[in-house]
Amino acid sequence: MHEPRYATMAAMRAEFPWNDVKVYVAGHNGLVGSAIVRALESAGVGEVIGWRSSELDLRDREATHDAIVGAKPDVIIDAAARVGGIMANSTYPVDFLKDNLLIQTNVMDAAHAADVDRLLFLGSSCIYPRHATQPIRETSLMTGPLEPTNQAYAMAKISGIFYIEAHRTQYGRHWISAMPTNLYGPNDNFDLQSSHVLPAFIRRFHEAKASGAPSVTVWGTGAPRREFLHVDDLAQAALMLMQVYDSAQTINVGLGDDMPIRELAETVASVVGFEGAIEWDTSKPDGMPRKLLDTTRINELGWYPTIKLRDGVASTYDWYVANVAHAAGGVA
Ligand code: GDP
Repeated sequence: MHEPRYATMAAMRAEFPWNDVKVYVAGHNGLVGSAIVRALESAGVGEVIGWRSSELDLRDREATHDAIVGAKPDVIIDAAARVGGIMANSTYPVDFLKDNLLIQTNVMDAAHAADVDRLLFLGSSCIYPRHATQPIRETSLMTGPLEPTNQAYAMAKISGIFYIEAHRTQYGRHWISAMPTNLYGPNDNFDLQSSHVLPAFIRRFHEAKASGAPSVTVWGTGAPRREFLHVDDLAQAALMLMQVYDSAQTINVGLGDDMPIRELAETVASVVGFEGAIEWDTSKPDGMPRKLLDTTRINELGWYPTIKLRDGVASTYDWYVANVAHAAGGVA
C-alpha cells in the first residue's frame, strides 16, 4: 500500500493558498462536483460558488457568460456534464454530444472572458479507443476508433481536451484536463435506465432484498472489466492537480486495478445482503471490453487512492438508503 503524499488536508493546505481563492465548481450538486466541494471545504477554501441548474442553465451561452464574468472566480473546476450509463449514452447520442459541447464551451469561453487563469476540465476514460493497449496511457488518445455505445459523450470530451490545449497555446492559460475512471459515491444517479452499473447494482439488489425476490437480472455477460474509484479519492486528486499539474496533456485518474462486472455484482450483493441468484440478460450491450487506466503519471505526482471498494460500496449503500430509498418513500 502506498502512502499518499497528501496524507492530511492540513498538509495540502500548507502547500497551496486555498484560503485565498474563490473557486467556481460547475456541477457542484452532482456526484463529482459535490465531492470536490467537500474536499475544498476541508482544505479551507476561501470561497466556493456554484449555481443549481434551475438557477443557471450552462447550455445558455449568454447566461453562463454573465454569471461567470459577474462572479469573477480565481479558479474553475468544471465537473458539469450530461452523464449517464451505457443505455442512456447509446439511446440519446444527440443530447450527450450537444449538451456536453455547449456546457464545456460556454464555461470555458466565460472563464476566458473573466480572465480565469486556472481551470480544470474533467472528462472520462471513455475518450480512449475501444482497442487501446491496456492499461491505457494518456498517449493512446486519438489512436483508434471509439467504443460505439458511448462515442457521442467521448467526442464531446475529446473536444474539451483540445479546447483546453487550444487555450494554453493561443492565450497562454494554465488550464488542465483530467480523465477519471468509473466513479461512484454519494449523490450518484440511481435511476435504473440512466445510471452507471455500480449505483444500478445497489438499487437492484436493495429492492430485491426488500421484496424477497429470488433473483435479480442485470445486463450483458458480466465479462467486461471495469475499475471503480470512489469520488472522494478523485476529489483529492483534483485538488492536488490544481496545485502541481500544468501540462497540455490530459492526465488519468484511476486505481490501476480492475475486475469483471460479474465480480462487482457479487461484491455489491454481499454488501447489500442480497442472497438470491444473479442472472445476466445477454441481449443488453457489454460496451467496452476493458478500460483500465495507466496511472503512472498521477502516481508520480504523489497521488494514490485510499478508499477500498468494499468500504466505498458500504458507505455509498448507507447514503442510498438514507437519501434515495427513504426519500422516495420506497423500500428501505
Ligand atoms: P460503461 O462503463 O460506459 O460501459 O457504463 P456502465 O457503468 O453503464 O456499464 C458498465 C458495464 O456494466 C456494462 O458492461 C453493462 O452492460 C454492465 N451492466 C450490468 N448491469 C447493469 C445495469 O443494471 N446498469 C448499467 N448501467 N450497466 C450494467
